[in-house]
Amino acid sequence: MKDSKIIEKDRLEDVLNNLKERYKVFVPSRDGDYHLFRPLGNGIRADLNYQNSRLSPKGIIYPQSDRMFVYSIDPEEEDAFIMKEAEKDFSPQLIFGIRPCDAHAFNIVKVNFDTPEYKDPWWLKRFNSTLFIGFGCNNPCSTCFCTSVGGGPFHEQYLDVLMYDLGDKYIFSPITDKGRELIEGIEGLDSASESDLKKAKELKQSAEARINGIGEVSLLKDKDTLSLFNAPFWEEVAFSCLNCGTCTFLCPTCWCFDIQDEVYKKEGDRIRNWDSCMFPLFTLHGSGHNPRDKKFQRVRQRFMHKLKYYLDRYGNGIQCSGCGRCVRYCPVNIDIREVFNLMIQI
Ligand code: SF4
Ligand code: SF4
Repeated sequence: MKDSKIIEKDRLEDVLNNLKERYKVFVPSRDGDYHLFRPLGNGIRADLNYQNSRLSPKGIIYPQSDRMFVYSIDPEEEDAFIMKEAEKDFSPQLIFGIRPCDAHAFNIVKVNFDTPEYKDPWWLKRFNSTLFIGFGCNNPCSTCFCTSVGGGPFHEQYLDVLMYDLGDKYIFSPITDKGRELIEGIEGLDSASESDLKKAKELKQSAEARINGIGEVSLLKDKDTLSLFNAPFWEEVAFSCLNCGTCTFLCPTCWCFDIQDEVYKKEGDRIRNWDSCMFPLFTLHGSGHNPRDKKFQRVRQRFMHKLKYYLDRYGNGIQCSGCGRCVRYCPVNIDIREVFNLMIQI
């Protein structure tokens, strides 16, 4: 916590407005009963009175719907039927108040967008132009299990700055050089005192002690893939699933997409949209055959991918940051922690 600074709560708005002159700033903001990350300004204000946003900030780097290419189908046009890269904004941006689990999630999905063989230019440019100002969790939800997947309510590893809420003020603790530069650029901040730092450490210890973790996830690596695939419990796990896709939609570590063309009059867009392995259409072949036409096969795929295939392939833990969203919002209470317990017993 070297070089940590204090920001009085009543100064926060000024600080954010100042940062807005240098970055596009995304903040957690109230949206009805929930919180959502949105760009600061135009009536959107930061509201840090939240446990976590309903939708993760994944879409800031990887938009739910991303226009990739544009083209004309007008034969009169010289460049008709030629794909051109759509204009995109890669200017510096900052996600303020991101929870450590959601920052960890970007590291989990990075292995898919930044591989030795293939690099997704849009994901990478957005990721590399983003600063992450984390917000430690004083009161983790009962569904959080970040400490079991290599994270924690105050985990620093994937952040540029970590913020602690001390009640009447915030501590801003720099993690990376970029974070240190950012804090040094804010005028008039006092250094955190010894008693402030002591309080911050106590908050961290108390929050970590309240997380309901799951067992040792790396033990799944030793399990035989086919035995897990053919385990007897998948039909039962999937029985109540509605295939609504809420779990994958809210998950910060789900990355699947579909590409579609939309044409209006003579202008066309090629668009990348989030997709979900929980939908039957996801794997429907052009022939009409569907290798996952049964519900239990789709539910099994989701859990096997997150807890086994990813673990075996990337050596980067499991494909889950322990944010607990899928547990909180599944309408029929299907719980990844319980599925993990079933899998570990095979
Ligand atoms: S949120 Fe629950 S019911 Fe909906 S698809 Fe996911 S597991 Fe099934
Ligand atoms: S699988 Fe569930 S708990 Fe894990 S990152 Fe996704 S939404 Fe969060």
